[in-house]
Amino acid sequence: MAQHDGDWGFSTQAIRIGHHRTAEGEHAEPIFPTSSFVFRSAAEAAARFSNEEPGNIYSRFTNPTVRNFEERLAALEGGECCVATASGMSAIMATCIGLLQAGDHIVSSQSVFGSTTMLFTKYLSRFGIETSFVDLNDLQAWEAAIGPQTKLLFLETPSNPLTDVADISALSELAHAHDCLLAVDNCFCTPALQQPLNLGADIVIHSATKYLDGQGRCVGGAVVGNKELVGEEVFGVLRTTGPTMSPFNAWVFLKGLETLELRMLAHSRNAQILAEWLERQPQIERVNFPGLVSHPQHELAMRQQRGPGSIVSFTLKGGQPAAWTLIDATRILSITANLGDTKTTITHPATTTHGRLTPEERAQAGIGNGLVRVAVGLENIEDIRNDLARGLEAV
Ligand SMILES: *Cc1c(COP(=O)(O)O)cnc(C)c1O
Repeated sequence: MAQHDGDWGFSTQAIRIGHHRTAEGEHAEPIFPTSSFVFRSAAEAAARFSNEEPGNIYSRFTNPTVRNFEERLAALEGGECCVATASGMSAIMATCIGLLQAGDHIVSSQSVFGSTTMLFTKYLSRFGIETSFVDLNDLQAWEAAIGPQTKLLFLETPSNPLTDVADISALSELAHAHDCLLAVDNCFCTPALQQPLNLGADIVIHSATKYLDGQGRCVGGAVVGNKELVGEEVFGVLRTTGPTMSPFNAWVFLKGLETLELRMLAHSRNAQILAEWLERQPQIERVNFPGLVSHPQHELAMRQQRGPGSIVSFTLKGGQPAAWTLIDATRILSITANLGDTKTTITHPATTTHGRLTPEERAQAGIGNGLVRVAVGLENIEDIRNDLARGLEAV
């Protein structure tokens, strides 16, 4: 399936791209669990090592199953090149190591994944790369934070757990006006709902662990962008330092991609029904969900995204006691900080994902004690709603 028609729809690409059928005539994508590859001759080995001839050498560099996943995800994001990684965090690390050097500066949204904040503040700073954090939606704050050393703007949209939505086009214009790159962690929407490269971003980052897998089985990640940035710089870091994706995991993610569009639209539909219902419950002060008209960036979200996604958060009037009572009264929802699964999950951010912040930092980030986050899965939504109704009655 080497060539493809540029007019293929999203799911056709997600199901068909990247499988170069072998002489066995297999219908499904094969797994190549091999660490190395053999050459027909000493001359062929020499040609591969000197890059005169393309081809596999060793699975830290390339592997056919991983390649299959990379080609497919690159097509879905509308990017030239994709490099698969062992986890979402190693995708972010490889991007930073590949594209930055000592003395460079990052401007990041303050509402990014906790380990991302840690990577920027605790580790990259040791190597002379500093990071400033700004409010995701404050374009002037982004601009004010950019200095002569700034090379990279980094964000997630919608944000976790408050679902704030950033204007990717506006931020990519800002980045390029200052000779910076814009990297978007597209974990929550996936290319089925949002394609940051088409909105001007330079790099897309994924934790494949979440919706690309979609069923909570494997840890993995990916970086998508052009040949120069991703195909050379980020790939160079991967092949040298080694946080590569295993062929087995790549195969699981390939299977995940085949149903990605169907799943993301179904997640969005379930979340919309749940968010509208939650908004009518008297025990709840506020619901955060980009699909609600009450969301401050509802119009932007509907323009930029093909669906609202599956993350819904809400604030209970009764604070932490009410939040914990609600969570503990549910019987179907999984109490876990993970997301991106067919199984609906429920979390109390203030005492888990954001528990390490001081009360002042939490207040500044908008993570109140009554806040609950639900990552809506693919169960029958009436069952999820009834489960939460039981919890609300207990409050
Ligand atoms: C989970 C997550 C990551 C990290 O991915 P891992 O696969 O766990 O390393 C990065 N960004 C976002 C938005 C995430 O949700």
